[in-house]
Amino acid sequence: MSTPILTIRGARRRYNADTPALQGADLELQSGTITALLGPSGSGKSTLLRAIAGLEPLDAGEIICGAQSWNGNGPAVPPEKRRVGMVFQDYALFPHLNAIANVAFGLNGSDKKKRALAQLEAAELGHKANAYPHELSGGEQQRVALARALAPNPAIVLLDEPFSGLDRRLRSELRARTIASLKAAGATALIVTHDAEEAMAVADQLALMGGGRIIQTGTPDDVWMNPASAAAARLLGDVDVFTGKVANGQVSTPLGDVPAPDFKPGQLVDVLVRPAAISVIPADDGAYALTECRSTGAELAMTLKAADGSHWRASTPAPCDLRTGDSVNIKLNQTFVTVTNSAG
Ligand code: ADP
Repeated sequence: MSTPILTIRGARRRYNADTPALQGADLELQSGTITALLGPSGSGKSTLLRAIAGLEPLDAGEIICGAQSWNGNGPAVPPEKRRVGMVFQDYALFPHLNAIANVAFGLNGSDKKKRALAQLEAAELGHKANAYPHELSGGEQQRVALARALAPNPAIVLLDEPFSGLDRRLRSELRARTIASLKAAGATALIVTHDAEEAMAVADQLALMGGGRIIQTGTPDDVWMNPASAAAARLLGDVDVFTGKVANGQVSTPLGDVPAPDFKPGQLVDVLVRPAAISVIPADDGAYALTECRSTGAELAMTLKAADGSHWRASTPAPCDLRTGDSVNIKLNQTFVTVTNSAG
């Protein structure tokens, strides 16, 4: 892979004795790509973003942009020298400045109004150039905030939950617009979100965060198909976990034997099973009982009970005439099953 434009190595930040926010985070951003940083609340996403922007110091580790060390050896580079554009969750537009003045704020030179207008026009907001933030819709405010972040041609654009304040329908439209704007500008972007679907939709690279570390990176498809751990798998959707030992190149689970050719005999592993992995076959004297059936419209979400009493989630396209209490057999689709080292 080419040289990353931004490299974060071993980033550590502790706010106080009880709160290690970053515990050795490593991440690389490739030029012109969008990375989605996905993690639960409190996992350190905002702290990492703020550290990249220079708004939060690091206790240890380094942040390198191109050939320049922003944090690490020597004094940290101050925020205004980092060539970072930021879109905050609440957009943080200046209320007393109109849209064009907001976008021109970080620009220098006699043509800054002209460049700001061009940036607004690229966001299809040229006609709102003289409007004040309170005269703009939530979506328009977000677009002005993005135009302001992109205007100085930053090395990195950081977006902190940029769609969270918007209703669902508007969100997917604005998401598509935001990606188009970032791509048109050739920007390198890091977007923080706690919404898995959103992360999958926007990302060239997905970075999963947990406990102050990056626990997995990869393309959305790769991370979805090959989660590195139960924690990583759970961030992207429902998953049930069976922990067991490898014998004869496989693990015996309540759902049947699962191949584990990459693991040593006796090794403790986690078998991660997505609901889509389990196909349910009605059978009078089946080995499993359906304990729950619920239609979500497009699919039927089920829970089934195995002979050992364990419960597993399964899903199948709707409509289908399965009912709670039915007896079934199953087929396991290994594509949606992953074996990883056990988390213990
Ligand atoms: P996220 O963005 O993933 O929700 P944060 O980076 O905001 O996570 O927070 C990581 C941890 O650091 C959390 O435990 C949070 O409570 C704590 N934290 C964040 N900001 C501060 C702060 N200014 N002072 C003390 N603790 C903080």
